[in-house]
Amino acid sequence: MREHVMKILIVGDGNVGKSSFVDRYVLGQFSGRYKMTMGVDFSLKILHWSEREKVRLQLWDIAGQERFVSMTRIYYRGAVGCVMIFDLSDSRSFLNCRLWKQDLDLKSVLPNGQPLPCILLANKSDLSARVVATDTIEEFSKANGFIAWMETSVKKNTNIEEAMRRLVQEILSLQ
Ligand code: GDP
Repeated sequence: MREHVMKILIVGDGNVGKSSFVDRYVLGQFSGRYKMTMGVDFSLKILHWSEREKVRLQLWDIAGQERFVSMTRIYYRGAVGCVMIFDLSDSRSFLNCRLWKQDLDLKSVLPNGQPLPCILLANKSDLSARVVATDTIEEFSKANGFIAWMETSVKKNTNIEEAMRRLVQEILSLQ
């Protein structure tokens, strides 16, 4: 049995659904509460990836940052992947993804010098009040080197497992 340990960062503006995403993925439930924690939340999930491979995921959620702030290098150290989340009904949270990605690329590289694989999630797809267009996200995702982007709804449990599978697959392919 081979065991992989992966430190994965969950980044994005406040209120986009980061904690809810982690709760949903790790605990299988939608909390529906607004929790403004300070500092970094840390969650674990074990994936039985294949008969011979187990993946131990460490999810680091930068909690309590309302808008973009440059994060300390300690937070980025040893990370092998990133989930960047914005809220489809909040254009500012989308625009700030440029800053989050720049900060990420500046401070974290893989041992081989490559940028960290990062998936972009357009969350709250269940809401009708969308303000960010699909074409715009597509273009942004390509131009900024994301491995993929997906629409998610943590509330409706849409694309959560899929997004994490896609990211883990990418990380494993780089190892
Ligand atoms: P964080 O600050 O990025 O960690 O965001 P939270 O996880 O605290 O979520 C902020 C708010 O958005 C909470 O009220 C959540 O219940 C809500 N929320 C999170 N994901 C979704 C979603 O997919 N759809 C809807 N409608 N609300 C969501």
